[in-house]
Amino acid sequence: MQIKSNVLDRQFFMYQQEYEAAALRVLRSGWYVLGNEVRQFEQEFAAYTGRKYCVGLNSGLDALIMSVRALGIGSGDEVIVQANTYIATVLGITENGATPVFVEPDEFFNIDADKIEAAITQRTKAIMVVHLYGQASNMKRIVEVAQKHNLPIIEDCAQSHGACFNGKMTGTFGISGCFSFYPTKNLGAFGDAGAIVTDDEKFADEIRIMRNYGSKVRYYNEIEGLNSRLDELQAALLRVKLSHLDELNSERKKLAQVYDKGIKNDKIKLTAIRKGADSIYHQYVVLCEKREEFQAFLEKYGIQTQIHYPVPPHLAECYKHLGHKKGEFPITEAYADAVVSLPIYTGMTNEEQEYVIEKANEF
Ligand SMILES: *Cc1c(COP(=O)(O)O)cnc(C)c1O
Repeated sequence: MQIKSNVLDRQFFMYQQEYEAAALRVLRSGWYVLGNEVRQFEQEFAAYTGRKYCVGLNSGLDALIMSVRALGIGSGDEVIVQANTYIATVLGITENGATPVFVEPDEFFNIDADKIEAAITQRTKAIMVVHLYGQASNMKRIVEVAQKHNLPIIEDCAQSHGACFNGKMTGTFGISGCFSFYPTKNLGAFGDAGAIVTDDEKFADEIRIMRNYGSKVRYYNEIEGLNSRLDELQAALLRVKLSHLDELNSERKKLAQVYDKGIKNDKIKLTAIRKGADSIYHQYVVLCEKREEFQAFLEKYGIQTQIHYPVPPHLAECYKHLGHKKGEFPITEAYADAVVSLPIYTGMTNEEQEYVIEKANEF
């Protein structure tokens, strides 16, 4: 049997008629950028997360870059971020000329909240939190530290649409919840898309102006803006997907439970979930010291796996100039050497999953 690490067409065919109707509605409307669909999606996504405002953008990376910029953070400033994240999180900081200050993760792959205070300096301007793989971070402790030091929190929710900490949705703990709707994300569009959610009206206005060349009124430019507009087609398709997001997340949670129960192999360590947190299982990640062999073994049986992520940002070629050394973040580096993401996707069949479990246990 051939099992891909991710399959995207099944979620389309599951609601095919709704997607096609939404797409045709936009194509026939004669209005393609920043219109009614974007407005409606923004209202619906703000309501879904429980925030006052949502601003639709071009990508998750833009959401991060623009959030940092709207807080006035730039050259000479520091932003605290977990060391074991996707490069985009860090780019959100460095694209503004600010310096990322890395902190080691905890056993749940999120920032170790107890290590944040030691990383705070006079230059620290914000804490960037990533709910990696879909699991909510320890927001109780992080909010305490942020309040004590009067630092804003930016949440990277690119992998956590709908995941909660103590019943409160990720993306609602800080000034800005940054979302990506890249096709593989739990709330994925059919192209690039992103958004921020916030309760701060001024912040929302700033992002709204920034996304459209820095102008509120066309051709009157108040700030040096960007072009980071969510288009109508993606917004219309996202509205369909959003209306099914809870079902889609529950399906992934069920798939994860089946893996949790089924995988029994001393060489494979499963991911625990923090008390009070939940995960929407954007990825189903396990640790395996013999990762290369494990991947090759599964590959031999037609099962694809992925590594999220093989090179931590502090060791990435592009950040050589930051001067970090191998061994500086041992927990992060150990994760980078041992994490494996097993196949998990909408529409994964029992048969497919049982096959993955059988082979994982055989290894
Ligand atoms: C996908 C992702 C991003 C970037 O989102 P894009 O829409 O691809 O720009 C940022 N952070 C994390 C953790 C991601 O997984």
